[in-house]
Amino acid sequence: MKSPRFVFSRRAFALSLFSAILLCAAFPLITWAIQLWDVPIAVDEPSPTLSQSNSSPAIFMLPEHPGDEPLAEEGRPLYDSYLTIERLRANLPLSLPTAQPYKAAKVVYLTFDDGPDPQNTPAVLDILKKEQVKATFFLVGTQIEKHPDLVKRLFAEGQAIGNHTYDHIYKSLYQSPQSYVAQLNHTDELLKSIILCRPRISRAPGGSTGSFNKGYWELLKQNGYIEVGWNVSSGDASAAKAAAIESNVLTQMKQTFLQSHAIVLMHDGPGHIETVRALPGIIQALKAQGYEFRVVNTQTPAAW
Ligand SMILES: [Zn+2]
Repeated sequence: MKSPRFVFSRRAFALSLFSAILLCAAFPLITWAIQLWDVPIAVDEPSPTLSQSNSSPAIFMLPEHPGDEPLAEEGRPLYDSYLTIERLRANLPLSLPTAQPYKAAKVVYLTFDDGPDPQNTPAVLDILKKEQVKATFFLVGTQIEKHPDLVKRLFAEGQAIGNHTYDHIYKSLYQSPQSYVAQLNHTDELLKSIILCRPRISRAPGGSTGSFNKGYWELLKQNGYIEVGWNVSSGDASAAKAAAIESNVLTQMKQTFLQSHAIVLMHDGPGHIETVRALPGIIQALKAQGYEFRVVNTQTPAAW
């Protein structure tokens, strides 16, 4: 007969063995649980801050001394951390090296003038984000002053910002080349106060034809601005409805010689809701035709 002590020991042994087996079986489960605990929980990425965007590869910042080597913009918006006056004071060059024009069979540059506007600009940006395309926005100084947050959003989302003068009032603007460039300089100051840099591309309100003489072109060149025209007009400056705006763009873009660098004029300033309505159809039609969407920079060929 086995002693009670021996029976107890066997029970204890069996219990220990059972516990050990249970522990071994549970070990992978415990390890898996620990690993699971360690896995970082996916969170929404924080929206880019201004400082992050400034060093982001989404933009190209002009170097202090742009040399003769081609600018490595690669389709990105081009900005300068120096104002014209700051470059002059520091004896830094204002000229831009000639970039190799970007060439492909079907390239479109969507451009929007007269913003930012609290109704139309966010709507345009939402459409561009949804369609994953970039565009160029020529901003007016008086609108920039009213809506700095929209300027920040344009910049942070990698859209190209251009200078469309301070007040857009032809009479004062086109008094002289000096009055015109003074408005560009002032608008640059406003932009730099918001996004810490300024563009080198500008567009004359109403276009340069009929407003510019040789003196304007010379002063623009001296100040390092690139005047950007257009070769496709959406006709949205009139009271055109969305269907007509879309048709205007798509009809003009049937001209083969434009297709390598179609620069489309549109407006996102106050009152241009029909442009917003036309935009998804325009983008989708151009995508279906195989167009590449780019922002305006020094690689963009001249409109004409
Ligand atoms: Zn305009």
